Amino acid sequence: MVEGAIHAGGCLCGACRFEAQGAPLDAAYCHCRMCQRSSGGPVQTWALFPEARFRYVAGRPAVYRSSDWGVREFCPVCGSQLAFRDADGVSLNTGCLDDPEAMPPRKHIWCESRIRWFDTADDLPRE
Ligand SMILES: [Zn+2]
Ligand SMILES: [Zn+2]
Repeated sequence: MVEGAIHAGGCLCGACRFEAQGAPLDAAYCHCRMCQRSSGGPVQTWALFPEARFRYVAGRPAVYRSSDWGVREFCPVCGSQLAFRDADGVSLNTGCLDDPEAMPPRKHIWCESRIRWFDTADDLPRE
């Protein structure tokens, strides 16, 4: 059995619901172009879980292979971007959590493609 609190989340329309258990392995703001395009916003925030601690409890996401190393999962009804999955595990998009404040980002990644009109007021590491 995996220990730890259950973190529930899902898409805008409610067709896809997921649960992640315990503390995330990592959490970040991603400023890469793929996250910008898929989210439609300047940045995507995610929290990484091992596959064994993430599952869908309602609905089945559509899957888009966005690169050789990973896929993006989204609701086929409303289009909400739910998660990115690669060899490291499942990175759920923290904006989809019922309580997004439970998983604050710990760092910024892909800062070379950060949109210059967008920044956040924090002292987190910037990669
Ligand atoms: Zn939906
Ligand atoms: Zn990204």
